[in-house]
Amino acid sequence: MDELNSISATLIQWYEKHKRELPWRDTKDAYKIWISEIILQQTRVNQGLDYYYRFIERFPEVQSLAAATEDEVLKYWQGLGYYSRARNLHKAAQQVVSRFGGKFPDQYADVLSLSGVGDYTAAAICSFAYNLPFAVVDGNVFRVLSRLFGVDTPIDSGRGKKDFKLLAEELLDKKHPGQHNQAIMEFGALQCTPVSPTCDTCPLSVQCIALASGNVSTLPVKTQKVKTKARYFNYLFIKHNNKTYLQKRTGNDVWKNLYEFPLIEADSLLEESEIFQHSYFSNITAGINAEISISLLSAPLKHVLTHQQIYAQCFIVEINEESKFLEQFEKTEIEHIGDYAVSRLMEILIQNHIG
Ligand code: SF4
Repeated sequence: MDELNSISATLIQWYEKHKRELPWRDTKDAYKIWISEIILQQTRVNQGLDYYYRFIERFPEVQSLAAATEDEVLKYWQGLGYYSRARNLHKAAQQVVSRFGGKFPDQYADVLSLSGVGDYTAAAICSFAYNLPFAVVDGNVFRVLSRLFGVDTPIDSGRGKKDFKLLAEELLDKKHPGQHNQAIMEFGALQCTPVSPTCDTCPLSVQCIALASGNVSTLPVKTQKVKTKARYFNYLFIKHNNKTYLQKRTGNDVWKNLYEFPLIEADSLLEESEIFQHSYFSNITAGINAEISISLLSAPLKHVLTHQQIYAQCFIVEINEESKFLEQFEKTEIEHIGDYAVSRLMEILIQNHIG
């Protein structure tokens, strides 16, 4: 047995002893595996589990997901973040129905052609469900490979992505690709962790180059720093006869197709007097003769996304006459706001200040 085979065998042995029991590991159903993989991108297993159960209960097979409305799918996703994942799941389910007759594809290229499915997800689905020999490379795999083999090529460079993919393919146990892929990812999640990996009990400590050279804490290497931008959201919770107004976010921006209160995005959080003078507010109140009251509903909130920091506050605006401008919004009873799919930020505003 050469060294790579022996490393793979050790990983699989370790996995059989230490793996967490997770529902998507007991199935060969590509649809369920796909749902779990999309949920687990950017989401911790503990948080993802609840969503997985609820999602599979409501959408037990690809047909029910394809037939649902996007609003409902987004509602089931609410709180998980990265909502493009949910929009793509819905779109891809419809592609499975229209292009593959409702049967989840079993060829790598076909799986890869679905919306929202990249190299990693296609390899995971094909190896877990169909035992096809495709190696997965996610954050855990990058870390394990860079430490084990002492590779300091930045994992976020084009060169690094190529090198690590090749290394992962070389290491892959072609007879048991599903088990091998699960094993290396679980090993990265539980043993070879980002901070304080448990090297003293590691079954690969003898082979590990990072351990021998004292580089465990410096590997893997990353070059690019994520640039973040600050944005300022001034929401308007407009009350009229126990009803309020919502809009659906559109365009290529955060929280696409989720609902929110009418919004004034500005270069800063605005004072009440600045809201009053803002042209957007003038549109809302155009033609209204009756009294309008405005007050701050919430203290400013900071919401951190991968590339953005959003500072938000919400004003309560009470009107007793509806302007023409407001007709473009979705009008709802205040107690029914919870029926709409909203961002986590909106959810916090509603839960803490509106109830
Ligand atoms: S010895 Fe430490 S760094 Fe090396 S593979 Fe094991 S856990 Fe990871």
